[in-house]
Amino acid sequence: MASTIPEVRWTSFADLPLSEQVHRAVADQGWKIPTPIQALALPELLDGEDVVGLAQTGSGKTAAFAIPLIEGLGRKARGVQALVLLPTRELAAQAAKEISNLSRYNPVRPVVLCGGVPIGPQIKALKNRSAAIVVGTPGRILDHLQRGTLHLGAVRYLVLDEADRMLDMGFAPDVVRILSHTPDSRQTALFSATMPGAIRGMVKRHMRSPRYLTVESEAPTVDTVEQVYYRVDGRDKTRALRALIDAEQNPLAIVFRRTKHGATKLHRQLERDGYKSALLHGGKTQAQRTKTLAGFAHGRSRILVATNVASRGLDIPNVSHVVNYDLPEDAQTYVHRIGRTARAGKEGVAATLVGEAEVREFDKIQRSLPVQVRRSELPLSA
Ligand code: AMP
Repeated sequence: MASTIPEVRWTSFADLPLSEQVHRAVADQGWKIPTPIQALALPELLDGEDVVGLAQTGSGKTAAFAIPLIEGLGRKARGVQALVLLPTRELAAQAAKEISNLSRYNPVRPVVLCGGVPIGPQIKALKNRSAAIVVGTPGRILDHLQRGTLHLGAVRYLVLDEADRMLDMGFAPDVVRILSHTPDSRQTALFSATMPGAIRGMVKRHMRSPRYLTVESEAPTVDTVEQVYYRVDGRDKTRALRALIDAEQNPLAIVFRRTKHGATKLHRQLERDGYKSALLHGGKTQAQRTKTLAGFAHGRSRILVATNVASRGLDIPNVSHVVNYDLPEDAQTYVHRIGRTARAGKEGVAATLVGEAEVREFDKIQRSLPVQVRRSELPLSA
């Protein structure tokens, strides 16, 4: 059994070996970077590994299993190649929709097999078209197997999503019977919000040395982060930033900008002013990013100017300050950004620079946060 991978690997969608069609479909969704569970699971699943992912609804796990499913599908092969088991009809419908969306430039149409609806049209769908992907709930899938209307002997990719809920709902015997209809050589991905003993047992019996993937939960606005904002009316934000840095003793700070161009400009300006800083954005190669991050993590440059590419999943232990030089796009991005500081119980400061024109936008973000962000005055040198 492979061990847990504690850190989120540094990835962008561009770094993953995805087809041009899937890249386009991901871009259409408006997704910029993979969520932490995607960053962990996609490389493993695309590599053909079995994966056990500790992940909740909302983590982006559907795409984490849907993308490898789409990429691995043999377009000419016959029979059901991929099977996705979920506990409820709603979840099955959602997963099927996401598979359709992500395969829009090379369409695959999943057949949805759930209870609570007539079985006739499902039988027809299985007969009529090349049903390469089946998404459904265990009871109805077992029903089809027993009627002989579904055959799973060609399944190469199996997903058990929300496994703990399936077990809670009493589906364990059904799931085990369904598994026995699929070839042992298949690839299996299991996602669950919790890992009770019953799931561990199932993993042991039915999966091949899976990789265990967990992501630290992005607790909204950790209480060890001191959150402040500064109004910088009519003043230059660069000056405000310099004043904040100067007022601290040797901070290790991530400064967020919205655009690559903005980040590059600020980085240059800081270097000109004698502040040693590093630059991170999506236009850099993987090798460059790894090097930059390693340099920053070891304190070789103590200011990292970055775009949102650094806002999720990045775990650098001693970041003392996160500065929102540009406002985050929304409350979720705010939470992700400020989650880069105060890690592992340490103290941290999240400072947001709010320009004159940004007051209303920041108010809107604040209203969605569970805590009040305190207004503070800039240190005197600004
Ligand atoms: P899930 O956990 O799969 O139910 O996904 C939760 C939500 O996150 C869905 O609305 C997805 O559309 C969205 N989502 C999935 N991946 C990403 C991503 N990389 N960036 C932004 N949103 C995403």
